[in-house]
Amino acid sequence: MFDLDKLIRPNIKKLVPYSSARDEFSGEAKVFLDANENSLGSPLTKWYNRYPDPHQRAVKEKLAAIKGIGAEHIFLGNGSDECIDLLYRSFCEPGKDNVIICPPTYGMYEVSANINDTAVRKAPLTEDFQLDLVHIENLVDANTRIIWLCSPNNPTGNSLRREDMEMVLNNFNGLVVIDEAYINFARQKTFIQELTEYPNLVVMQTLSKAWGLAGLRLGMAFASTAVIDTLDKVKPPYNINQATQELVLKALDEVGQVNDMIHLLTDMREAMAEVFASMPTVDKVYPSDANFLLVKIRDARKVYEFMLTRGIVLRDRSNVKLCEDCLRITIGTEKENTVLVDAMHDWYDQNPG
Ligand SMILES: *Cc1c(COP(=O)(O)O)cnc(C)c1O
Repeated sequence: MFDLDKLIRPNIKKLVPYSSARDEFSGEAKVFLDANENSLGSPLTKWYNRYPDPHQRAVKEKLAAIKGIGAEHIFLGNGSDECIDLLYRSFCEPGKDNVIICPPTYGMYEVSANINDTAVRKAPLTEDFQLDLVHIENLVDANTRIIWLCSPNNPTGNSLRREDMEMVLNNFNGLVVIDEAYINFARQKTFIQELTEYPNLVVMQTLSKAWGLAGLRLGMAFASTAVIDTLDKVKPPYNINQATQELVLKALDEVGQVNDMIHLLTDMREAMAEVFASMPTVDKVYPSDANFLLVKIRDARKVYEFMLTRGIVLRDRSNVKLCEDCLRITIGTEKENTVLVDAMHDWYDQNPG
């Protein structure tokens, strides 16, 4: 049986959270002399002299409508990376608990575990980049707190099989975090609607990819109210700044524009996949449900370095296990994609045979 109470660290359970000035009074008033802000204003024309809403109510309401879920099921972090860190700090006792990751996958699960002195157990993906359920099951012990799943996965680009993720959700009594950073580019649907079915599920999304707002730093975690309340207790009070909250509110009105970009990017992804597949030294273009391609190519490191001399930066994954000889290539603008393909032709001109 899943029992969240047993997962929350004892010090967090006991924690009396910081109560900000904006928490203690949030009604209507004219004169705010409670937070030691600069009442005269700021060098900027906006009201940035005031602390932002620590609960991000307006942003959460709009997101709730878009995602079709109650605002009480949403946690907002300074990027998904903050959500990852807060999950460790809330649920993993340093020096005692462990988590499971399925490499090759997003690097922050392991880095954040190391920062939080939490042991990382690895159940590598299979050759076709799917979950090794038997290996995962064998790694679980009484101190396993989180299983990190990333779907679509970075850097492989594929979605994990839904039945496999459901198998983990149904059989693991810790938290299962499904990182859906790339879900908007995927053929699969989100797990957000499954939250009522699985009390141990945490879904992470971000505005950094499809929404094009990596610079604003807004990550989302969707979970039971009990998980959300715990993360809220641990987070820094003003983790989402005023400028981000304002700009995100504006951006969230533009769902149509974002959907257009998603269509264009996925179309270009398929076109670029074909172009790469036809190149002489490309062994494989892996199927992608994301806004990037994983390409297996002879002399990957040399191609990477050649591209650098052309001012083109790719992600070299050639020394990552299961990604040997692979480059991860983000889908760019039409022009950027052309620049890359032209440079590839130059590479072949200079390295015939
Ligand atoms: C890019 C990415 C993120 C994004 O993190 P942010 O901190 O929200 O920018 C999260 N997870 C994965 C797998 C990613 O590739």
